[in-house]
Amino acid sequence: MAKENIVLKNITLDGKASDIVVSGGIIRKILPAGNLQNILQDNDLAKVLSEGMEVVDCYGKTAMPGFINMHTHAAMSLMRGIEEDVVFQDWIDAIWKIEANVDSDFVYWGTKVAAIEMLKTGTTTFNDQYWSPTHAKVAAKEMGIRPVISYVVLDKSDPSEASRQRDQCERMYEASLKWNDDAIFSVSLHAVYSVSEEMILWASEFARGHDLLLHIHLSETEKEVLDCKAAHGGLSPVEYLDRLGVLDSRTIAAHSLWLSENDVRILGERKVNCVHNINSNTKLASGYKFLYNELRDAGANVCIGTDGCASSNNLDILEALKTSAIIQKAWRNDPKAWPLDELLRCATVNGAKALRLNTGEIAEGKAADILFVDTDNSFFLSPGSFLANFIYSAHSDCIESVMVNGKFVMRGRKIEGEKDILREARKMIGLISE
Ligand SMILES: [Zn+2]
Repeated sequence: MAKENIVLKNITLDGKASDIVVSGGIIRKILPAGNLQNILQDNDLAKVLSEGMEVVDCYGKTAMPGFINMHTHAAMSLMRGIEEDVVFQDWIDAIWKIEANVDSDFVYWGTKVAAIEMLKTGTTTFNDQYWSPTHAKVAAKEMGIRPVISYVVLDKSDPSEASRQRDQCERMYEASLKWNDDAIFSVSLHAVYSVSEEMILWASEFARGHDLLLHIHLSETEKEVLDCKAAHGGLSPVEYLDRLGVLDSRTIAAHSLWLSENDVRILGERKVNCVHNINSNTKLASGYKFLYNELRDAGANVCIGTDGCASSNNLDILEALKTSAIIQKAWRNDPKAWPLDELLRCATVNGAKALRLNTGEIAEGKAADILFVDTDNSFFLSPGSFLANFIYSAHSDCIESVMVNGKFVMRGRKIEGEKDILREARKMIGLISE
């Protein structure tokens, strides 16, 4: 049985050998290495630790905060590579057709596979938007990863569908009040082109009334912006949602890619959380000129996501960080664009802020969501900074172990039940095959 109290001995933190005491899921104390005896003399901590502790020697490992993937559709992990080299509209039409066969078992096993991949690539919290969210939630919690799941509103202006979705969303919200774990329930609006104005208003008011996060695909493609302007008197998707009173600091706007100066101003003033999904955007040729500097300076909270595996093909935040930065530097013709420390914040602290979570950094009092990075390999054999080597050189297999809420959910790159999960998930592929 895993112990509640864990002392991480000799772990490197901000370049210094440290001892970290984790208790009750929280980082309780951080001290220079070699101070275990002093820790035991701290009255409060000694009392806690007297109930038993596991001491883990972390020599050669560097502690990093777990990543927060701010936009994904986890169960799409079973839909990789099925619609390649097609334009966005053909891609989404094909995906919706395939999804007609997706059931709750598919979501459950697909989310488990996604959780394996996310943990192996350092994600400890993910913000999901997919069907059968309660099955996704169960799958995620069984894997030990922290999920933010959402009821997805997508009525395509069908009144009977709208009515069904309102009822289902309300029931799911009521059920979420009885959850006794750290999963978070939220509401998703698929996009302005797939949800009626009536349902945009309803979902927005429902989310505000219950203080829930509201997750939406926003200004992902140029076509979305042009169509919105044609349908709504020249208003862009951002202007349209703002006119409806939807946007505020609880809004998580995936993509936020095709923006005017006025859009950036609105997103900043409303403190919207804008999530960049570079691999999905570039592969679907939706665009690549994400306005990082402008959004940051305007006051928006910029975060990082992968999007689902049907477009990004993997859930690797480390890869997304590297690609986000190099493309930003390239199109701006500015090597100073999106510096390393800000990149890391977008995938950690900013995600925690968006989701209103007490995590995102290794500090006393924060949730113990910790990556153990193995630096004993060629990628880190340099006088360069750890962060440069981690983001630009290494691959995520340098993440040797992962802790979520003070519990090891991956150790030595092994995740409990991995083979069995892959075997069961394989059976689901038939549901979406021709
Ligand atoms: Zn998406």
